[in-house]
Parts: sequence; C-alpha cells; structure tokens
Amino acid sequence: MGLFDFQLDLFRIKKEVSVSTISSEFSSKSLVAFRYNPRLKKSMRCSYKGIFGRPEVTLPSYMKTDDFVFARELAAQWAFCAHKRKTAKNKAEIKNLLDRFWAAVDQVLADKGEKTLDARGRFPPIRSKGKHYDLDQVLAAVNETYFAGELDCRITWSSRWGGLSFHSIRKDPITGESVHVISISKGYDASNCPLYAIAGVVYHECLHIKIPVVIKGNRRIVHGRDFKRCERKYIYYEEWMNWHKTVLPKNLRAGRHEK
Ligand SMILES: [Zn+2]
Repeated sequence: MGLFDFQLDLFRIKKEVSVSTISSEFSSKSLVAFRYNPRLKKSMRCSYKGIFGRPEVTLPSYMKTDDFVFARELAAQWAFCAHKRKTAKNKAEIKNLLDRFWAAVDQVLADKGEKTLDARGRFPPIRSKGKHYDLDQVLAAVNETYFAGELDCRITWSSRWGGLSFHSIRKDPITGESVHVISISKGYDASNCPLYAIAGVVYHECLHIKIPVVIKGNRRIVHGRDFKRCERKYIYYEEWMNWHKTVLPKNLRAGRHEK
C-alpha cells in the first residue's frame, strides 16, 4: 500500500441510536450515588450518608449525560478511596483516580467539540481531526507503509499553537493502561503543508515508539545513531526537513494570533 492510499475511514459509520438504560443517579458498579450542581465546573465533592457511610458524589451538572458514564464510575471509585485511611498507597490511588477522572472528562468535552478544562501533565484530550488533515488517516498510512501496521498509539493535534510535536507514554484515563500518545504541532495543520511534511513528522514520532530512549550514564539519548539511520528511510526525508526548517516556523509565527 502506498503512502497516499489512505485507508477507508471506518469510523465515519454512524452508530445506531439506542435508548439509554444508564442511570445518572447511581453508579452501576458500586453503592455510590451521584448528585449534580450547576455551580460546579472544575471540581466535585463527596459526602458520606448513613451508618454505612454510603458515598454521595456531587458533580458539575454538565456531567449528567450518558457520555460521562465512564468518568462518573471513576468518580465513584475515587469517593471510596477518599473515605479510607490516608496511607501512602491510598493517597497515590486517590491521585491516580483524580487524574484519570479529569482526563476522561476532558476527552468527552473534546469529543463534543467543547472547550476542555486542560490541566498540565494529564492525559491530553485526543483531537485528531484538524482543519486540513485528519491525523488518524496520516498515522494509518505511515503505520501501514513503514511499520507493517503494528504500531499501537493515539495521535492528536497539540492543544496550544506553539506546541511542538512529541511522543509520550500516558495512562489511559478509562483503562488505566499505559499508552503511546503522539502530539503533532498545529503548524502542520495548514493549507501550505504538503502531505510529505505531515507524514514526515508523524513518521518521526512513530519512530520514538519503535526506538526507545537509551540511558547512558546520566544521559538520555533520544535521537541516537540508530534513530537517525531509520529516520532517513523516509522517502521524503530531505523535503520534509526542508519544510520543517523553513515553512513551519513561519506558520507558527502566523498562527500565534489565532485562537
Ligand atoms: Zn524526536
């Protein structure tokens, strides 16, 4: 398969609309009850009712819809942990659940095209469709052409304009598993960006998954000899590098004023 033969977009198939059986009042997995407060936006509260200390979590009102069901279950788990004695292990679990909860909330907001709450260090909301390029399609083509379709990762446009392209390993907010996340600079989502350039930067970030950082003494070798050698296997390497050095900085300067 050639680089430019994009795969069929399997995700554009409309899901069947089904009648909701999800309760917004109770967790389906525990004894936690949910309440909603329109004044809350970036916070939630927990109280414990009755002699058994049944947790009741108060969430922002916008989290009442079905698409927040996974996030609500994370909030329910958090409420149980928050009620327990604060050992070091439990404190770490509380932090882990809170991070996953807010990351899951951000992803739902991003999927709906709404403004995200964006906190540093959290799992970034995945937005792969840009104005000019759909990163899922570029990734599928690069993965197929150069990695036999074996790479498993998520890809998103960077959340800020000045953002650089990078690869990181994050905890998936829903499953808690470690996943590879590639973030691509928005300077590439432009009408003056040829396909070989966007595919070049995606290929570069994919290589970071294939060739992990080498630690030598107290040095981290990110772009070692092996990396550089593989990077040059990209057929439009020179053209991409040239675009990256000459056009990308201009795009980023021009885009700084955009929202
Ligand atoms: Zn790199």
